[in-house]
Amino acid sequence: MLSLIGYRATGKTTLAKLLAEKLGWEWLDADVEIERAAGKSIARIFAEDGEPAFRDLEARIIADLCRRERLVLATGGGAPLREETRRALRAAGKVVWLTAQPETIHARMTGDATTAERRPSLTDRAPLEEIVQLLARREPIYRETADFAVETEGRQPEELAEKILRLVRNESDLPQSDAEWKKILTPEQYDVTRKKGTEPAFTGEYTDCFKDGVYRCVCCGAPLFASDDKYHSGCGWPAFSKPAGGDSVEESRDESHFMVRTEITCRRCGAHLGHVFDDGPGPAGLRYCINSIALKLEERGSNDPPRK
Ligand SMILES: [Zn+2]
Repeated sequence: MLSLIGYRATGKTTLAKLLAEKLGWEWLDADVEIERAAGKSIARIFAEDGEPAFRDLEARIIADLCRRERLVLATGGGAPLREETRRALRAAGKVVWLTAQPETIHARMTGDATTAERRPSLTDRAPLEEIVQLLARREPIYRETADFAVETEGRQPEELAEKILRLVRNESDLPQSDAEWKKILTPEQYDVTRKKGTEPAFTGEYTDCFKDGVYRCVCCGAPLFASDDKYHSGCGWPAFSKPAGGDSVEESRDESHFMVRTEITCRRCGAHLGHVFDDGPGPAGLRYCINSIALKLEERGSNDPPRK
């Protein structure tokens, strides 16, 4: 089984359907099963029987559904609040938490007339405030329950479904196609890193930069070079005497442009970075000549997360 958890209006049902289609499995919406079992809407269960009774029924139905195989299950936003439900979902298979910003959830809920009718407001607060408060309370629970968190903000269902499948199949969560890379890179970054381009000499941001820090891959954030190994080569591109760590970059023979050179790529994502030449300083005599645009400097002492 594969289950989707997260707040209302994060696209669980849409994705459950799409994932089931791709896997050739069945899909179910736990809320629909609850309404079917109770013979009335969730709003009425809340109004007539109260939230604890609803949670009892929800826990029972989900425990039943967790016995099934080849099922993609979309769960109600509050389902993981019950510990037995958390355990049942985790024991049944992978759990994916769909995330979105409170403002986005609010906008989606306001745009969806059936939501308000079907699901009761859980507190008497104004909707956006209610979402912010409930999300803050539920986030640790979602995090504890899920194997993966997937950000839905600004992403189409198709793209999200592919990403989820890669995650549950334990494959790389990096973009897999040119189209996906184009979405996260600028045209210049894309041309250099994915199409083996070269930025014009003396134009890059880091050619004459000697700040302290780690140079990460602009595509995937892997640490590639350290400022300690950077030196002034005068060649027009950032130059390093060695890569950071033992295996952050990969070397391969490049016979393009009527030359034989050694190309340097990011080991994690395959981004083209530049070339290595044997006219460098130090005992190894190497010069890693790298395009600025393929790098992102994380300055030392900065807590900024690496740019992906
Ligand atoms: Zn990379």
